[in-house]
Amino acid sequence: MSTEIHNGITIKSENEINQMREAGKIVAMAQIALANAIRIGISTLELDKIAEKEIRTQGAIPSFKGYMGFPSSICTSINNEIVHGIPSKRKIKNGDIVSIDVGAIYNGYHSDSAFTIGIGDISDKEKKLIADTKTALQIGINSAKNSARVGDIGFTIQQYGDQHNYGIVKQYVGHGIGRNLHEEPQIPNYGNQGKGIQLKNGMSIAIEPMFNLGTWETQVLDDEWTVVTADGSISAHFEDTIVIHNNNAQILSELPEKKNIPIQKNN
Ligand code: MG
Ligand code: MG
Repeated sequence: MSTEIHNGITIKSENEINQMREAGKIVAMAQIALANAIRIGISTLELDKIAEKEIRTQGAIPSFKGYMGFPSSICTSINNEIVHGIPSKRKIKNGDIVSIDVGAIYNGYHSDSAFTIGIGDISDKEKKLIADTKTALQIGINSAKNSARVGDIGFTIQQYGDQHNYGIVKQYVGHGIGRNLHEEPQIPNYGNQGKGIQLKNGMSIAIEPMFNLGTWETQVLDDEWTVVTADGSISAHFEDTIVIHNNNAQILSELPEKKNIPIQKNN
């Protein structure tokens, strides 16, 4: 059965949503495994292997591997790195703020989710940045209901980020998701209430606030992937894949145990 399309945006059937929920559970399993494994001295490449193994063991495929030439199964973005960091031999150090982004394809359907965790001794300010970015994701999800508009999501995230004086990343945004990792519409972390495309049942989107302790401006490193803050300030990123279902926002990239992932972990 072909996917229904409404104003260029795919509307998923119950069956399609179920495939995405399976993909989301697999992403969540990989995230739980990563949160358990991360510690001082582990390399981001080791984390990548753990995630890939978990995803493939569950019968899924890592969404990011080979996507536009991306070499790895996950993105690992440390400290001033915002998103799209490439796993390497770099080892996690005491005090690192690590954002990990995971995607999986199951039966042809993607889910995409990210979390940030502080390792060892991090400052109260850094801890608060991580907690607030996580809250911003929840606020964005809460505002994504049937008949809400894309601008309502961005507005609530922006309002929350502004209240806490964070740099809100504008150049990278959330997105529709389904058979493709990135679909229409774009879901910015800023916007105006009542503006943009209206959300409707069966639309699935990834919401992903990125907050910085300094400027909102970004740069891309010479590896052509890693996005960093222009002023070197610390950044945090949280993301979930959701679907509008029965007029409500339902998280697909979820498992009960995922709620136990802390924002800071001692070695
Ligand atoms: Mg992602
Ligand atoms: Mg995404």
